[in-house]
Amino acid sequence: MLLEHKTAIVTGATRGIGHAIATRFAKEGCNVAFCGRTRNDKMIAVEDELKALGVKAKGYAADVADYQSAQEFVKAVLADFGSVDILINNAGITDDSAVKRMTEEQFDRVVGTNLKSVFCMTKAIQPSMWKQGHGSIVNIGSVVGIAGNYNQANYAASKAGIIGFSKSCAKEFAARNIRVNVVAPGFVETEMTADIPKELMDTWCSRIPMKRPGTPDEVAKCCVFLASDMSSYITSVVLPMCGGMEDA
Ligand code: NDP
Repeated sequence: MLLEHKTAIVTGATRGIGHAIATRFAKEGCNVAFCGRTRNDKMIAVEDELKALGVKAKGYAADVADYQSAQEFVKAVLADFGSVDILINNAGITDDSAVKRMTEEQFDRVVGTNLKSVFCMTKAIQPSMWKQGHGSIVNIGSVVGIAGNYNQANYAASKAGIIGFSKSCAKEFAARNIRVNVVAPGFVETEMTADIPKELMDTWCSRIPMKRPGTPDEVAKCCVFLASDMSSYITSVVLPMCGGMEDA
């Protein structure tokens, strides 16, 4: 197993890609601490699912876009699990609109959640990773952060920001054996994309060379590689996971 004896934090693992990452990590023998904004039945169900795979697992209510909440989340995880080897910054939201109609609130909310959460969680975990002299941080970006997209300027800005932030951290942390990389998925079918009309989805898929959306588990497998010792000399990379889309 690729992640045996390791502990990971996965943000936003109550559903979608985060849930797939937590599940795949548990199958690779990794203990998993995860969060969503509220501790509800869904969170408890995910916790039970992960435990049934034979690892230690716990869900926490935390708003990772809030500095104090992120600090408290990481403090609680370190108290419960002892140490953290891997941080997956996955939590994210969309609130799409053309720039012409986009409100300040829409911009602030999306950038404030997607980009600031990566800063908050990196700040919170960095001292313990620095002290232990190893760590792998994987930030979930998007091909939209590389290529831009109609109606997603706020989301594209947040994901492009994640790339710049990650590459800067990779440089600052490399000498302490802490690696920082980005996985940039293309179109992945989750609740986030569930409202997209079928005709639009078909049009998008027809433009993807592999002619289909990615799955959450395919994102999870990239994260296993970047989190594990299989990628021990890889830092500061952006790994597009998009079925060959040209722009990425
Ligand atoms: P979902 O909407 O299905 O899930 C988002 C998760 O993030 C939920 O678990 C949610 O938990 C959590 N979350 C949101 N905001 C916060 C917050 N402030 N604090 C803590 N948890 C939070 O999204 P996906 O699984 O589709 O996306 C996951 C990541 O992948 C995102 O970063 C997204 O941008 C990225 N991505 C997705 C693509 C896609 O096509 N689906 C493509 C490219 C990138 P809860 O609601 O319980 O708080």
